[in-house]
Amino acid sequence: MDLRSLSYDELTEDVLKMGEKPFRAGQIYEWLHKKCIISLDEMTNVSLKLRNRLAEEYEFGKFEIARMQESKIDGTRKYLFALNDGNMVESVFMRYHHGNSVCISSQVGCRMGCKFCASTIDGLVRNLTPGEMLGQIYAIQADTKERVSNVVVMGSGEPMDNYDNIVKFVGMLTDEKGLNISQRNLTISTCGLADKIRQFAENKFQLTLALSLHATTDEKRKQLMPIANRYSIKEIMDACAYYFEVTGRRITFEYSLVGGVNDSEEEAQALSRLAKPLHAHVNLIPVNPIKERDYVPSDDRSIRAFQNKLEKNGINVTIRREMGRDIDGACGQLRRKVMGQASASTVVSGTEN
Ligand code: SAH
Repeated sequence: MDLRSLSYDELTEDVLKMGEKPFRAGQIYEWLHKKCIISLDEMTNVSLKLRNRLAEEYEFGKFEIARMQESKIDGTRKYLFALNDGNMVESVFMRYHHGNSVCISSQVGCRMGCKFCASTIDGLVRNLTPGEMLGQIYAIQADTKERVSNVVVMGSGEPMDNYDNIVKFVGMLTDEKGLNISQRNLTISTCGLADKIRQFAENKFQLTLALSLHATTDEKRKQLMPIANRYSIKEIMDACAYYFEVTGRRITFEYSLVGGVNDSEEEAQALSRLAKPLHAHVNLIPVNPIKERDYVPSDDRSIRAFQNKLEKNGINVTIRREMGRDIDGACGQLRRKVMGQASASTVVSGTEN
């Protein structure tokens, strides 16, 4: 069991079983989730004996920084963290005028198969635990020595495909015993697992759910996103309407503009029709080209025309400010690059032998 993944109650129960006083659990939880330590040795008011016991009985993610790239353009930092089992995940740190934001991964790899996305190329390796999702944020705070106020789950992985862990993560991240991030400052992005969206609504979290839509017909969506074979746009829209009804929170549609593929004015019109009844906000993202695929971003003129059409239809729309383009900002690019180098060097040494 991963120490950071224990809820306050679970930790208390375990600490009592170890024959310790209940206040110890409060101290430990505070070190873990308020002071966000990345080494157990930092728990100075906890006895060495108890610290050793914790280290023996639990897994504790150290989040070693395998690589860090900082953008010269906007100061965005992309981290590649090594997990205890040797797997690697990417997280991104961005500074905005409203505060610092961290984009985290929810899985190692992904099995959703979206055609333009680098995270999914080698499939899913494993789910991240709640503690490994929190750990990415804690490690970035420790490294930057700056406080994080916003979190987006838009890195590698499909959060609704790691359902129980994402629900526990939200609870711990937004709890006053932990970092106490406001649910309103948390966004979770999904490619649209309709049944999970409905189930997720029941938690009544006040966070923002973002739906990666990227197309307005099932036919076009299937070309870009295999998950469209499983759920129709109609089923997803019904689930989003239910989510809005139950939580009172408006959905955001993410729409990556791919040049000549999904960026016509007719598609902007169709997108307006989908967004209108849900009062959805539309976030346009010029697709970030990855070297494994030949998708290109829409040109500026098409992007503006697309945006204008939506605005004329009374849709609330933003274009995602591109950050960190010079540092492999798109999902999964850095991990692939570093892993590619690792396997390339193995091959090289193999030939030498
Ligand atoms: N699995 C979740 C979250 C991860 S991806 C989801 O699908 O929403 C976060 C967002 O980035 C999604 O909207 C995804 O479609 C988009 N994305 C992935 N690769 C991209 C790329 N190369 N260019 C633009 N957007 C991309």
